[in-house]
Amino acid sequence: MEKLKNYINGKLILPISRQYIENVNPATGEVYSLIPNSDERDLALAVEAAKGAFTSWASTSQQERSKLLVQIATLIEKYSEKLALAESIDNGKPLSLAKTMDIPRAAANFHFYGTAILHEFSESHFTNPIAINYTLRKPLGIVGCISPWNLPLYLFTWKIAPALATGNCVIAKPSEITPMTAYLLSQICIEAGLPKGVLNIVHGYGHKIGQAIAEHPEIPAISFTGGTATGKKIALAGASLFKKISLELGGKNPNIIFADANFENALATSLRSSFANQGQICLCGSRILIQKSIYEQFRDEFVKKVKQLNVGDPLEESTDLGAVVSKAHQEKVLSYIALAQEEGGEILTGGKAISLSGRCKNGFFIAPTVIEGLSADCRTNQEEIFGPVVTLIPFGSREEAVALANCTPYGLAAMIWTENLTTAHYVAHHLQSGIIWINCWLLRDLRTPFGGMKNSGLGREGGFEALRFFTEEKNICIKL
Ligand code: NAD
Repeated sequence: MEKLKNYINGKLILPISRQYIENVNPATGEVYSLIPNSDERDLALAVEAAKGAFTSWASTSQQERSKLLVQIATLIEKYSEKLALAESIDNGKPLSLAKTMDIPRAAANFHFYGTAILHEFSESHFTNPIAINYTLRKPLGIVGCISPWNLPLYLFTWKIAPALATGNCVIAKPSEITPMTAYLLSQICIEAGLPKGVLNIVHGYGHKIGQAIAEHPEIPAISFTGGTATGKKIALAGASLFKKISLELGGKNPNIIFADANFENALATSLRSSFANQGQICLCGSRILIQKSIYEQFRDEFVKKVKQLNVGDPLEESTDLGAVVSKAHQEKVLSYIALAQEEGGEILTGGKAISLSGRCKNGFFIAPTVIEGLSADCRTNQEEIFGPVVTLIPFGSREEAVALANCTPYGLAAMIWTENLTTAHYVAHHLQSGIIWINCWLLRDLRTPFGGMKNSGLGREGGFEALRFFTEEKNICIKL
C-alpha cells in the first residue's frame, strides 16, 4: 500500500515515528494509502529547514519567485488529469467537479499570486516640506498554513501561494482526511525547482501536528481554514504569542429568493449552491429563504429537480453527487437529519443514506435532502451541517428576509435573487455576511476580499488582503 511522505527540506521523507494513519476512499470505504502520523520531531525538522531557507528566499527577487510559482501553476495544469482523479478518489467528490473546479482553481491560485507579486508596490508620503515617508512590506518569516478536507488542493494552494509569493517560508498541513493532492503538490514543487526548505508539508492529525504548528513559538503567523471550534483552539494557541492569525471558518449561508427573481436562474443555481460537492462547500446555501407568494411554486419545482439528481460513483460522468468525505461525517449529517425530524421538520425528499451496488457498495453516500417546516431558531437552522441538506423557510418582506438571514452566529456568504435593484442593494447592505452574490453563486474574482463575519472567521484572504496578511509593514521617515 502506498505510504505518503512528508516534504521537508526539499525531500520526501518518512515520519520519524514511522507511524501512519489509514487513508480511506469514501466512495468504496477501502483503505488505499497510509499517511504520516507526524509529531513534534517532524515539525522541528520542518522549522529548521524553513529557518535555513528564509534569508535567501526573502531576498530572492520578485521576478524569480514569480517564475517559480508560475512554473508550479504550469505543472499543476500539466498533471491536471492525475490530480483530479486523485482528488476525487481521496475526497469522494465527482471527478467532473475536480476537473472543472478544484484543480483549475489550484493552478489559478499559483498563477494569480505568482503574477500579483510583480505588481506589488510600496506606498510613500511626502510630508511637505520636511520629510519623505516610505513603507516597506517584509515577509513574516515562517508561516503555518492549515487547510480542510472539502476543497483539498484548492484551499491548500490558496494559502501557500500568497505566503510564498511574499517571501515567507511555509509549513503547511493538509487535512489528514484528504492528504493525497498535497503529497502530489510536494512532488510538483521538487520538479519545479523550488529551493529546499521554502515549502514544507507535514501530514498528520490536527490535534497533534496541527496543534503543534499553532503553538510553535518560531511560527509567527497561522492561516487557517476549517471548523469554527478548531479556529477557536488556534486563536487560543496563538494569543499568548501574539501570532498573526487569519481564520476562515464555518457558515450557515442564506440563499434568499424574492418573488421577482428570474425563476429559472434562481432554481438552477440553487440546485448547485445547495448540493455541489455534496453540500460540503463552506459557501453552499444551506438555508433557502423563499418569498411567500412563490413559496409553493419554488418548493415544488426545486424538489422535483432534486429528485432527478444522480447520486453515484464519483468516477462516472453522469454523477451529480458523489460520496460524503467519511463514515464519521456521514453519521454526523444523518444525525442532523434525525434532529430536524425531532424538531418538527418535514422531509420533502432524501433524508437517508444511499447504498450503491458494485464497487461503491461500502461507500458513504447520502441522498440530497430538502426539509421544510422548521423554525429559524431551531438547531437544524442554526448549526452548520456541511452536507447535502437544505431547509426551506418562507418570508414576507425584505426586512423579514434580512432578519432571518442574519439570525445565526455565522456570517460567511449569502445569495440574493431579485430583479429589483433597490431590493438587491438594500438586502446586500443589511446582511451580516462577508461575501454576497446577487443573482449568481461562486462567481470568484481572486482580487476580491474573501472571508466571514461573526463566527465565520477573522480577517480576509484573497487579492491584496492575503499579500498584506503575509507581510509586516515598516515605515521609514527621512528628514529632508
Ligand atoms: P477541521 O477544523 O476539523 O480541520 C481543518 C484542519 O485543521 C485540518 O487540517 C485539521 O487536521 C486541522 N486541525 C484540527 N484540529 C486542530 C488543532 N487543534 N490545531 C490545529 N489544527 C487542527 O475542519 P474540517 O472538518 O476539515 O473542514 C470543514 C470545516 O471547514 C467546515 O466548518 C467548513 O465550513 C470550513 N471551511 C471554511 C471555509 C472558509 O473559507 N471559510 C472553506 C472551507 C471549509
